[in-house]
Amino acid sequence: LASRAFHPEDSVVMVGDLAIGGEEIHILAGPCAVESREQLLETARLVKGAGATILRGGAFKPRTSPYSFQGLEEEGLKLLAEAREETGLKIVTEVMDVRTLPLVAEYADILQIGARNMQNFFLLREVARVDKPVLLKRGLSATIEEWLMAAEYIMSGGNQRVILCERGIRTFETYTRNTLDLAAVPVVKYFSHLPVIVDPSHAIGKWRFVPAMARAAVAAGADGLLVEVHPNPAEALCDGPQSLTPENFAAMMADLRQTAPVV
Ligand code: PEP
Ligand code: MN
Repeated sequence: LASRAFHPEDSVVMVGDLAIGGEEIHILAGPCAVESREQLLETARLVKGAGATILRGGAFKPRTSPYSFQGLEEEGLKLLAEAREETGLKIVTEVMDVRTLPLVAEYADILQIGARNMQNFFLLREVARVDKPVLLKRGLSATIEEWLMAAEYIMSGGNQRVILCERGIRTFETYTRNTLDLAAVPVVKYFSHLPVIVDPSHAIGKWRFVPAMARAAVAAGADGLLVEVHPNPAEALCDGPQSLTPENFAAMMADLRQTAPVV
């Protein structure tokens, strides 16, 4: 179902009135995690001002250590809804398991399946039954074939609104958090009709290099970008080192607009 052989034209995934995979490039931006009302609303206003159309923020966080901040859970979802109300931005947030899916689906405009859950087939089957677009991140060590098969789980279960997200894969390199597989963009778009967006933040892990790879992702044909932005990265509870300040984010957006049809 994800294959171009089955569906020759590019698929456009509608998120309310936003068309992902159409002529325009959408920017999904916000903090790694929802931390507080002030942090989220301030970030939402600033990314909206710079041109983002979708606000990201985790309420349920898949942290490597069980001692790290795990997210505000339902309180975080409520803050995301408040930010949507105030700014008009759509909301993308991660759903980590089947148990909390009904709750997350009540609030989210896009359900994010994180890299660590790309092959959680029970979860994929369940999001297939929800009438919401799904942002399917590539697994930490997933091949393109495995990634597309994960999309197939969602689509064969009844949900055709899948957006793929390349977020870097594990390699031997250590100067970057992951290795951004930019080749995946044209390759996946050749074999599949689904929209593909790129997350340079998690791919590289260091904010300084995010704008260059955002430019490269757009040049490679990405339909959008997922970018972490925090009002005070040094104080972030999660992923501060890869988070752009609102000023750096605005500069990146202005730069992208010089050459690309960013909304
Ligand atoms: C995220 O987007 O916050 C996240 C946890 O990303 P990934 O699943 O790609 O690691
Ligand atoms: Mn993050």
